[in-house]
Amino acid sequence: MKLTFLGTAGPDQIPSPYCDCPRCEYAREHGGYDKRKRCSYLINDDMLVDMGADLMVACSMHNVHLRNLKYALVTHSHHDHFYPQNLSMRRLGFQQSEMPTLVFAAPPSVMMLLDAAGIRDERIALARKPVLPFDHLDLPPYQVTALKATHMQAVGDAVNYLIDDGRKKVLIASDTAVYEDAVWPYLEGVQLDQLIIECAVGVNTSFAAGQTRHLSINGVRTMLERMKEIKAITSDTPVYATHFTHKHCLTHREMNEIFQDMGVVCAYDGLTLDI
Ligand SMILES: [Zn+2]
Ligand SMILES: [Zn+2]
Ligand SMILES: [Zn+2]
Repeated sequence: MKLTFLGTAGPDQIPSPYCDCPRCEYAREHGGYDKRKRCSYLINDDMLVDMGADLMVACSMHNVHLRNLKYALVTHSHHDHFYPQNLSMRRLGFQQSEMPTLVFAAPPSVMMLLDAAGIRDERIALARKPVLPFDHLDLPPYQVTALKATHMQAVGDAVNYLIDDGRKKVLIASDTAVYEDAVWPYLEGVQLDQLIIECAVGVNTSFAAGQTRHLSINGVRTMLERMKEIKAITSDTPVYATHFTHKHCLTHREMNEIFQDMGVVCAYDGLTLDI
């Protein structure tokens, strides 16, 4: 399995154009790994997890195309994860030839955004597959489980995807705070080949409210400990952090240093993993 990070930031990217905090100024000055677009992940060349506002520029910057895309999995309706007009660009008239059908799997609140944007499925070759927490999706060759995310609780339909391509298993744990009890049985003994985990609250471990919907470094530690206990991961399982925010996270290098003892490495935009 190949996984490409098309973006690794939270909703206001790094640097935020509206911000002059030290992290944003550092990113403007140094660029490189410290400039981060909003999150999206390409699996092999036919599955996308989340398609936020930066999708098109990310494809251009990282030299990938979406002509072979068969599946799009969206986790929830925040704009850094779903921006409907990315789909409207699939319409014939913008392309040279018809696009293959795209199975679009997402929770109901995301489907409502699609309706509100006036998207007509038949014009963009879209086949909807509504998803609720704990649904299982058969998307050959992939088997996908939608785990309940601890995120957007007032809406209640945010999910994280556990993806098995028949050979390797990856969990993208974003966006979420520490999982609720109901989630852990789905991960028991799963033996992931790769874990991607968010750390939106970064080093701001005193920001308690933030940790009810995202993970700080403490939250990441709690998640990893629990996953080891139930044999979802071992000490050898590669773990990459994502969904960084300028407000709560430090630079790429500093975050890597902090994560070192946890066996976690910071992802960066354009990174491709061979899993
Ligand atoms: Zn987000
Ligand atoms: Zn900032
Ligand atoms: Zn979110």
